[in-house]
Amino acid sequence: MIITRPRDWARIRANLDEIGAKKVFIMGCGECATMSHTGGQPEVLQAKVALEQQGREVTGWSVGDVACHSGGQRLEVRKHHGEIESADAVLVLACGAGVQTMADAVDKPVFPGLESVFLGNVVRHGQFEERCQMCGDCVLDRTAGICPVTTCPKGLLNGPCGGMWMGKCEVLTDRECVHVRIRRRLAEQGRAKTAAPLPPKDYSKKLKPGQLDLRDRALGHEKADTGTGSDS
Ligand code: SF4
Ligand code: SF4
Repeated sequence: MIITRPRDWARIRANLDEIGAKKVFIMGCGECATMSHTGGQPEVLQAKVALEQQGREVTGWSVGDVACHSGGQRLEVRKHHGEIESADAVLVLACGAGVQTMADAVDKPVFPGLESVFLGNVVRHGQFEERCQMCGDCVLDRTAGICPVTTCPKGLLNGPCGGMWMGKCEVLTDRECVHVRIRRRLAEQGRAKTAAPLPPKDYSKKLKPGQLDLRDRALGHEKADTGTGSDS
């Protein structure tokens, strides 16, 4: 899921002041932002209070199913047509994808109410960890299911680095070095001897912007999910 955190209210306020927005509609997200406790109903209602304390009118609010779903978002916009029409701006408590979906769906200035920070594993309720940066060229088959790109703070494919000390990471000193974990797990699985160093990653496989059309797959065209972007 996409992990978000609240955006600095001073920036939101500045965005609204810049266009002289007195009336605001608030859109949340019923999926990731609800799970992150940043854009569900409680947070939308908190934002409503905050805006009202600034002297603005909240014309309405909604928490649809998934803010980044174009069809679902358009449906939500239709349900709240009048409330959105009477607003000067829309504040979206969702990830950047959700903000852009809303910006495509309405003819109003749309502003982000959250910061999108990472693709997160749910470790337990309310606790998330970044395990994958969606590089488009996965090495987990060679690293015993532990991603060095994401979980090594330096993103080293072949480690440990010179700063590793007694098996601990030099950056996140309370954690074991990722490469120590990888080597141990490979050894436990009897794969240590066959584990050759990984070649430099081909970041051209990273799609920017990512696109996938499953209809192309049905027709046997795989080009849609092989990247052509660059990492510059
Ligand atoms: S190697 Fe790439 S795709 Fe695989 S887990 Fe790491 S970041 Fe994600
Ligand atoms: S000690 Fe290990 S995990 Fe930490 S930065 Fe160096 S190689 Fe990466």
